[in-house]
Amino acid sequence: NIRVRFAPSPTGPLHIGGVRTALFNYLFAKKRNGTFILRIEDTDQSRYVPGAEDYIKEALDWCNIPYDEGPGKEGNYGPYRQSERKHLYKQYADQLINSGNAYYAFDTAEDLDKHRKEHEAKGNTFIYNWHNRKKLTNSLSLSFDQVQQRIANGDSYVIRFKPPQNETLHLTDEIRGDIKIETNILDDKILFKSDGMPTYHLANIVDDHLMEISHVIRGEEWLPSLALHVLLYRSLGWDAPQFAHLPLILKPIGKGKLSKRDGDKMGFPVFPLQWQDPKTNDISSGYREDGYLPKAVINMLAFLGWNPGTEQEIFSLQELIEEFDLKRVNKAGAKFDPEKTKWFQQQHLQLTDSSLLSNHFTKLLSEKNISTELDVTKIIDVVKERATFPKDLWDLAQFFFMAPTEYEEKAVKKAWKEDTPMLMHELVRILNDITDFSENNVSSIVKSWIKGKEIGFGKIMMPLRIALVGSLQGPDLFLIASMIGKQETIRRIENTIE
Ligand code: GLU
Repeated sequence: NIRVRFAPSPTGPLHIGGVRTALFNYLFAKKRNGTFILRIEDTDQSRYVPGAEDYIKEALDWCNIPYDEGPGKEGNYGPYRQSERKHLYKQYADQLINSGNAYYAFDTAEDLDKHRKEHEAKGNTFIYNWHNRKKLTNSLSLSFDQVQQRIANGDSYVIRFKPPQNETLHLTDEIRGDIKIETNILDDKILFKSDGMPTYHLANIVDDHLMEISHVIRGEEWLPSLALHVLLYRSLGWDAPQFAHLPLILKPIGKGKLSKRDGDKMGFPVFPLQWQDPKTNDISSGYREDGYLPKAVINMLAFLGWNPGTEQEIFSLQELIEEFDLKRVNKAGAKFDPEKTKWFQQQHLQLTDSSLLSNHFTKLLSEKNISTELDVTKIIDVVKERATFPKDLWDLAQFFFMAPTEYEEKAVKKAWKEDTPMLMHELVRILNDITDFSENNVSSIVKSWIKGKEIGFGKIMMPLRIALVGSLQGPDLFLIASMIGKQETIRRIENTIE
């Protein structure tokens, strides 16, 4: 039974790295008929950001990677917000104390700071671990009565994990293979605080166990916690899930991890949706608002750390589900590439049915108060190849709906010769005589007229294009002429010669 989870902390908007983690979990689950769970890890109330949970849900929704169980979709393992599971964790912290795998520690923040400074003065780093714990204030250095007394007094405490000493752990990661860790390098991580809240480590393990998670697929930044997590499972007498740590996403240029701030620097979104910071009101751009198609973003994200092992780069979500395999996820960090992202967008726009894009386009026309009898879908069909975003379609197609009001200077210079007005007058007479104004018919009549005159095609076609389009770009001229019709074609030519 495959059960995977995406477990973000609602501390801000989801960065594309988070979306990539969600996506890989989703693909893994769907390929094997498994369950994809969203769990909100909100035990650290000090880092809670209002709106972040809604943002996460909206982002997954926009990406079309819906969760099967989670907040608002209660399954048999809820609730799915850790703040609502608060009552569950203490018993496991107690169990760890009773079995000798954890202990109470009473050191105050000032005490710890003092130790840190003393160590630093000697050029060492202070670590709360097997080497130091006996010298600190905790249930391993105090008597049983002293400990009871402090707890009874209401002194604040934390519960720390006590890793075994002198043991080599053999860990397995689905992507990284076998990893050996000496337990003596581990520190005594805090599991629980006297305010009644577990830390990430305890809550995460308990919930993965209670929710029967089979595979933990998460970012590489959690790899250093793997030993602790495996030890926690063992100490609680539970089977650990399988683990897979996804490679980092790196900056496009320079070194290091792609950060939330890189978006501003690149002028490129690192968030799926636009986000307004509730404290500063600063707005960060999002793929959705920038006009990206969700399937393009998903395709781009799939290739951040994974590849199918073939030449194929363009994938639908369904194809990704079929092809995805943890075995083909790299260990090495994956460089985020804004240009490649645009390429994926451009490719997916081409694959989008023009009739779907025409909804967006028709809305735009009505915003501009343009009513038209033209076949909008057909127009999109012919201009689409030069578009990257749906919003580009207007620039590429506007001449179908409005005669040009400006003519591109460079084009005019190139196309307009002394005899052009005379030739255009003649062209108008020819067009006037055509009754069947279909693309093919206009094309063959005009072309044979040009041939008969023994002049270059450019002498007619370029000024004609400028008259109809305003520049030397655009789809087939006779298609344009037949779509806008005889009258409009002639009117536009006359506009340039009168
Ligand atoms: N809450 C952790 C995060 O924000 C989850 C890490 C994990 O998947 O174990 O990334």
